[in-house]
Amino acid sequence: MQDIEKNNTIVERVGPYELKKTIGVGSTGQVKLGVHAKTGFTVAVKIISKNLFKKKQSYIFNIEREITIMKLINHPHVLSLFDVYESEEYLRYIILEYVKGGELFRYLVEQGKLKESEALEFFRQIISALEFCHHHYICHRDLKPENLLLDSYKKVKIADFGMASIQLNEEFCRTSCGSPHYASPEVISGHPYDGRLADVWSCGVILYALLTGTLPFDEDNTSSLLKKIKIGIFHIPHHVSSAAQDLIKKILIVDPKRRYTIADIKQHPWFLKTAA
Ligand code: ADP
Ligand code: MG
Repeated sequence: MQDIEKNNTIVERVGPYELKKTIGVGSTGQVKLGVHAKTGFTVAVKIISKNLFKKKQSYIFNIEREITIMKLINHPHVLSLFDVYESEEYLRYIILEYVKGGELFRYLVEQGKLKESEALEFFRQIISALEFCHHHYICHRDLKPENLLLDSYKKVKIADFGMASIQLNEEFCRTSCGSPHYASPEVISGHPYDGRLADVWSCGVILYALLTGTLPFDEDNTSSLLKKIKIGIFHIPHHVSSAAQDLIKKILIVDPKRRYTIADIKQHPWFLKTAA
């Protein structure tokens, strides 16, 4: 936004924050570490490229919606939004709470399948954040381990509300969005759908991934992948406990009307399990 000189080197600056290394790259642009020039307080700066807006007008709407939604949510397991800046070269800088632990995706790749007690802890945090969002009529619609970040205490923070929507009780969502591996059958079929139940499906895929280190539906070819999801047949490895298997099977049900809701999940014996 503003270039200032410090020890003869140019430092890019957004408001009071000096921009440092790139900490993430997504579909909308780069995310950089920002350090408050006076206090040293660190933030994440999501930089949305103006080129994106030139390409597609609907991006402006999506970014505005992401900002509005993140301003509304205040929950310990949802990333906080602190501020928003605009500039000439780039349209938006979103100042977010910075978390050090990286993506849950990377953690899974490094660790492989998790112990059931650890997977349960992550899953409970995701469900509590999602219940809060849904209670405020917000559906995330792009839940996947790349959009679940970890703080330094290994607590989950849901990030990236770029696909989120506000859904009032009787309304249905229409846009098909999210990564196909985590998208529910009704979303990929293109029918109007209940975004809350679609989010629950994604949580089922995430739970499967946490417990097995693999995906329930995985094909190199997208059309075979979508076919598999629509049929909803998957295999769960034997090492997964029967209670956890039961919960996954009740979430990954093709018919959204028969699928477990968040209230059902919270009553399931595996979810209620206390540490051994
Ligand atoms: P996109 O909408 O482009 O996918 P995201 O909001 O998901 O953008 O950010 C892209 C990546 O940047 C994330 O997957 C994560 O690795 C990193 N990132 C985003 N926000 C933060 C943050 N607040 N703290 C640390 N890393 C972040
Ligand atoms: Mg993302």
